[in-house]
Amino acid sequence: MMLDSHSLTAHECRRLLAVGEATSEEITAALLDRVKAVEGRVGAFLQVDEEGALAQARAVDAKRPEERSPWEGVPIAVKDILCTRGVETTCGSRILKGYIPPYDATVVRLLKEAGLVILGKLNMDEFAMGSSTENSAYQVTRNPWDLERVPGGSSGGSAAAVAAGEAPWSLGSDTGGSIRQPASLCGVVGMKPTYGAVSRWGLIAFASSLDQVGPFARTVQDVAALLDLIGRRDPNDQTSLGLPTPIAVPRGESLAGRRFGIIKEYLGDTIQPGVRRIFEQAVEALEALGGRCCEVSLPSVERGLAAYYIIAPAECSANLARFDGVRYGHRAHKAETLHEMYTRTRSEGFGPEVKRRIMIGTYALSSGYYDAYYAQAQRTRTLIIRDFQKAFAEVDLLISPTSPTVAFRLGERTADPLTMYLSDLCTIPVNLAGLPGLSLPAGFADGLPVGLQIIGPHFSEQMMLDAAYALEQRLQVSTRPPLDVTPAKEVG
Ligand code: GLN
Repeated sequence: MMLDSHSLTAHECRRLLAVGEATSEEITAALLDRVKAVEGRVGAFLQVDEEGALAQARAVDAKRPEERSPWEGVPIAVKDILCTRGVETTCGSRILKGYIPPYDATVVRLLKEAGLVILGKLNMDEFAMGSSTENSAYQVTRNPWDLERVPGGSSGGSAAAVAAGEAPWSLGSDTGGSIRQPASLCGVVGMKPTYGAVSRWGLIAFASSLDQVGPFARTVQDVAALLDLIGRRDPNDQTSLGLPTPIAVPRGESLAGRRFGIIKEYLGDTIQPGVRRIFEQAVEALEALGGRCCEVSLPSVERGLAAYYIIAPAECSANLARFDGVRYGHRAHKAETLHEMYTRTRSEGFGPEVKRRIMIGTYALSSGYYDAYYAQAQRTRTLIIRDFQKAFAEVDLLISPTSPTVAFRLGERTADPLTMYLSDLCTIPVNLAGLPGLSLPAGFADGLPVGLQIIGPHFSEQMMLDAAYALEQRLQVSTRPPLDVTPAKEVG
């Protein structure tokens, strides 16, 4: 039997293991071979834990099949923002170089308890600030669909690894779009759960009222299964509730009677014509499946970006105060005084985007400016929440393009932070309102993937996944980029 990393969904791995057609070691080794074959071009991983992964896989193989839990032995990779016990965790920053956490993030612990094999840590924008992964202090990650283009960000490594067939699924985090936008640009499925559905304990904090961990995969069924594994209440995160009910694997192929609202504000000039065309085709497909689509207006979402770029920097300026050279990672050498040590550590350790955010955040929170900026942004946030509530009184789910554009060229937006910030125009209001959002591959514009964003009310993940599954079956979009293929591996 041949193992082809691109057709290896997590569900397929589970089946191969259950029927004894492949061992976990064979599956893990096939993926590690794929990593070796493509990483030189893609650059998704900051760390590949080859030995650790193979040891975990062999331990699973040593168990009798009836002793194993359902996902035991299936490999996964995780964004480097998640603490992994004994494995370096840098958050894409020089300031955490060499930091080895003494504990696992709750989501990582849940993966380990489910018996998943962790292949390694994935590249990201420094502290998850960015939309292209170009703010990583370590390396460039390339889009598997076009190696001259960005994979999106900040979870660019998580999206690229799955798109390139290096891992069947992965975890990322989303503060303003960092799961959905890279999923869209790399042509994979990505989901940001409802705020509080997943524990943030051990997720290195960027903006605590917005951050949420979520899954990437090549199929909706895999995303559903991974969300089910991580959506648990955690006493270590007092904002976590967990998912109210277990997520069932979506199977239904009809959308009869489902009401979809097309967000009018997201069909303006900023949307590329090719993206608009694919979006319109997706609307037709939803209608063909029995869904009813109508336009809805959410006027306040147009102020989402402005509110976000006060609130997120404000929270990050407080969260990043802990990186002072005393507690974690990098410390400047030869400083004469404590103050000099702080200053030099932070000057050397943080990159330009992180410094920009800390300065904006500190300014917005300072007395005299607090009311003008921070309080105003919070009021705008409330208006956005109300607009979504009103819309969900009329329709079941909302839809929009995930990203206004397809993947852009490496370097194209690095000189102008404002252009980079516009990448998240359609995703940011969802975080401000704490809602769940999903990006589904919907087609291609000029050979590059285009994602459809589906937004639901709080804790409507099951309904969203069911709708996404039905549409996925109808659209049959390829998730196989033209990266030259490593020969399939003979096993069994
Ligand atoms: N691109 C946005 C930012 O730079 C969102 C990032 C994220 O979701 N982590 O803040």
